[in-house]
Amino acid sequence: MPVCELISVGTELLLGEILNTNARFLSLELAAMGISVLRQSTVGDNPKRLALAIEEALSRSDLVIISGGLGPTPDDITKEVACRVLACDLVLSEEISEDLKAFFSARGLDMPKTNEKQALVPKGAKVFKNPKGTAPGLAYEKDGKCLIMLPGPPREMEPMFLESVKPFLSKYSDQIILSHTLRTFGIGESAMAELAGELLNGTNPTVAPYAKDGEALLRVTARAESLEKAEALCKPVLDSLQKKLAPYVYGIDVENLQSQLVLLLEQSALKLATAESCTAGYLSKKITEVPGASKVFECGIVAYSSDIKQSLLAVSADTIKTHGLVSPEVAISMAKGARHLAAADLALGVTGVAGPGPDTQGNPAGLAYIALVAENDIIVEKVQTARSNDRDYNRRIISSRALNIARLYLLELKAKVRE
Ligand code: ATP
Repeated sequence: MPVCELISVGTELLLGEILNTNARFLSLELAAMGISVLRQSTVGDNPKRLALAIEEALSRSDLVIISGGLGPTPDDITKEVACRVLACDLVLSEEISEDLKAFFSARGLDMPKTNEKQALVPKGAKVFKNPKGTAPGLAYEKDGKCLIMLPGPPREMEPMFLESVKPFLSKYSDQIILSHTLRTFGIGESAMAELAGELLNGTNPTVAPYAKDGEALLRVTARAESLEKAEALCKPVLDSLQKKLAPYVYGIDVENLQSQLVLLLEQSALKLATAESCTAGYLSKKITEVPGASKVFECGIVAYSSDIKQSLLAVSADTIKTHGLVSPEVAISMAKGARHLAAADLALGVTGVAGPGPDTQGNPAGLAYIALVAENDIIVEKVQTARSNDRDYNRRIISSRALNIARLYLLELKAKVRE
């Protein structure tokens, strides 16, 4: 396996304006593949310093991965500098040029002149397509060394790495690399690591934890001579992880909570509606991110003011006066209102305090009540988020909790039908 180092390019990284999540992501991924990352460095958008960083890295390591600086603007210099160091020419790739034109025309736009330089590639380089953006990734091999260049934005870099670079790197070993991702909800990264215990110390497969927005996932990666052998190595580890983390696991190799919810609704032939106050549409946004959500999602109502809660959702003034706007009773009443209005099978009602400070009644930021109302069932849960003064975080976490409540309810319903 090659020895690897990473170079992150971008003055914003040096200024501390953005966190270097690319280095973290790449290091975790490469470690899981058994590739040792021996050094990480960060350079600004400065041609001299970048050239030096590339020269030094190539003198020490077999594999150098650069992220950032592949954009269309003059300060994006990675490709040009790398070509100078490698003494290779930049040539026009007709294929990328066509892809770029298609990218813009799909958005009803003409390609800006500045983007033309993104179709230039080092002569003989391997190109990794970028379905999420305009800068393709590149790999240039010379004298037994390999320099890989990836776009800076994580939403472009991460899928490109997983879909294209990882398979490309597997040729550096005579082994197959296979990964499975086990997704959990409702448990933090450290608690998950504690439950996973010794399994995290394995070397083949490796088990790498990641956490984001209240979700924690484990990526299980095995190396073997064949796919079957790699599967056979992963299976017992996935089985034990699933057992140890049972209440929290919502799927293996599934996309996200909302896709699981939409799938369950489809399988149960049930329709959902939502009534949101503090999340103000975030919950319905997540549900409708899933292709095909229209088959199961009737409507999402944002009922922010007290008046609208009353007039649109028939929450009674009495309920509000007696229990307060942030209360289980109002959440239930909102869900009932949405269910009735949409003639849906089930509805979620969410009321809470987005923050950053407490509401006028003294309810703390990050407190919410989520109600699920179905024909014969009412479930209501209280949520208090951990990073309560972060308004956006609160809205995201509360929405995810609502998705999970509905998901668990449908799973239970399915289990009952089977009995
Ligand atoms: P673009 O086409 O957007 O210019 P690029 O490949 O040139 O892409 P940069 O210009 O270096 O990449 O970075 C674009 C954005 O990507 C940055 O403003 C930042 O938000 C994000 N980004 C870049 N590098 C990193 C990194 N190492 N970690 C996290 N985010 C990053």
